[in-house]
Amino acid sequence: MDSPADIQIVRTVADLRSCVHNWRRSGETIALVPTMGALHAGHLQLVQHAQTQADRIVVSVFVNPTQFGPNEDFAVYPRDEAGDTTKLSALGCDLMFVPPVEEMYPPEALTRVSVPSLGDLLEGEFRPGFFTGVATVVCKLLLQALPDVTVFGEKDYQQLLVVRRMVADLWIPTRIEGAPTVREADGLALSSRNAYLSAEERSIAPTLNRTLCQIAADVTTGADPIVRGELGAADLLRAGFTVVDYVTVRDAETLLPWSGPARPGRVLAAARLGKTRLIDNIPLP
Ligand code: AMP
Repeated sequence: MDSPADIQIVRTVADLRSCVHNWRRSGETIALVPTMGALHAGHLQLVQHAQTQADRIVVSVFVNPTQFGPNEDFAVYPRDEAGDTTKLSALGCDLMFVPPVEEMYPPEALTRVSVPSLGDLLEGEFRPGFFTGVATVVCKLLLQALPDVTVFGEKDYQQLLVVRRMVADLWIPTRIEGAPTVREADGLALSSRNAYLSAEERSIAPTLNRTLCQIAADVTTGADPIVRGELGAADLLRAGFTVVDYVTVRDAETLLPWSGPARPGRVLAAARLGKTRLIDNIPLP
């Protein structure tokens, strides 16, 4: 048995492949949890879920430049490798893959993976290129780690669907599992970007989840989903959100407009609070 202090940190694809290869040769199964670091309890829950699914756990920590737009927060995105190492060691995670940008994207690399339609809706509309960046980096990580199972959070619900689609379309032999969103006591979904919120913004932020819960309850009892989404956007602006990108009730599998109770539904929203963009989503009951 490894002690928690035995977490290995590797920074090259060659080292990642070699560790995974050795585990595989001894018959062990592998789970991958892709992250951008600045780990919080939401990420750690994904790791704990992964530990119920496989013998060895790999967590990648990589702030992926290709999923950030030119005016987004790549340069200032929170980074805390020492803190991440301590947290993952304490959980008994086996390996951290922390590649530099040049390792993941050598200067000569040209290939991108995109998932049209599903990746062009919602987040894709407001963050052009975002899901191509996500799909490209996740595809590269999956092909090098070759995990039996890969765990993503429902917090980024559209990302979970996009990755599922890509894995099915490209026949990548891994199982994608979603884990529920971890929240603060007041309902705010944990996010590395919550660190950007001022005290006043932090007090407004839980309105996002409250609004989604009210919309879910109302459409379940017959309210018109489109009207209810528009009212929800107005509620957010009244509460102090500065811009609402979308508040909408969608089909939980296709992300097209929800057609009614015969289909699973999901309420999704993205809104800005000052300079911070928050997203959240919940299932219809
Ligand atoms: P990120 O580091 O933001 O790219 O997130 C890495 C993974 O953690 C993604 O699969 C996210 O969906 C997941 N995640 C982020 N926040 C939460 C949360 N509050 N609860 C559950 N999973 C989360």
